[in-house]
Amino acid sequence: MSAQRTLRRTVSCSGIGLHSGSKVNLSLKPAPADYGIRFQRADLGGLEIPATVRHLGGIDQYQTGLTREAVSVETVEHLLAALTALGIDNLIVELNSPEVPIMDGSAAPFVYLILNEAGVKRLQAPRRYLKVLRPISLTQGDKRIALYPSDHFKVTYSISFDHPLLRHQSRTMRITEESFVEDIAPARTFGFLKEVEMLRQRGLALGGSLDNAIVLGETGVLNSALRFEDEFVRHKILDVIGDLSLVGYPVVGHLVAHRGGHALHTAFAAKILEETDAWQLVESPDMGMVPVGAAPVRAAARQHA
Ligand SMILES: [Zn+2]
Repeated sequence: MSAQRTLRRTVSCSGIGLHSGSKVNLSLKPAPADYGIRFQRADLGGLEIPATVRHLGGIDQYQTGLTREAVSVETVEHLLAALTALGIDNLIVELNSPEVPIMDGSAAPFVYLILNEAGVKRLQAPRRYLKVLRPISLTQGDKRIALYPSDHFKVTYSISFDHPLLRHQSRTMRITEESFVEDIAPARTFGFLKEVEMLRQRGLALGGSLDNAIVLGETGVLNSALRFEDEFVRHKILDVIGDLSLVGYPVVGHLVAHRGGHALHTAFAAKILEETDAWQLVESPDMGMVPVGAAPVRAAARQHA
């Protein structure tokens, strides 16, 4: 059994929103067991927006947002990926502007903040995992995502673009705290120079620069260097970990995605929760079919079917 966790102390950072270009302060504050991850807009009276699929908001190809009662937070995915991969179950995320700061375009600054500045605190309550019992899949055109039973959380991602640097990249990784910190968190978001003008006309990428995104020109990258040869597919793994966290529990299963984006990832997170016979809540990833006492009624009911 694993205990739920939160942070040891409140930590803060500031930066700009990738799409809004607005300056923003972010604070991560400890929260009690079973609180979950909730965003608060300090500039709008502190209404809480839980980081779950029920509050999915402005999803597009470029970012994932959450909404509640006309209050929204945008670009939550990199922070959520860091929180879920580092096993932070309960936290208040306070913002004074609509968008999570992009930092350097990766999750590494959030990892540093959590592990080196805040520290992790164990709580007196068991964590519950969403363990996959049978395959779940979703296809949209040439994009596909699926989740298969596995004893660990693994991700296989493949991308293909009409660009000489990323015609095809594929990677399979077992996601642990260590592998996330070393191999996934530093991978930066990326975009195409030819799309920048179109994005800015739509009011997106206003804060984007070579300091917070890999920018692809016609034949290569405009930045000085990549952090990994396959940094692009690693960043897609980062994105899908963050988007999938909106199911509300750490997932135990093998996620396989091809050419996905935030819209597909988040639609899939919602579909997982709808297919209640495809998974079970357990207190240990290798617990097999043993039910959890505190599982929702629908999970308990299945045991008698
Ligand atoms: Zn991203």
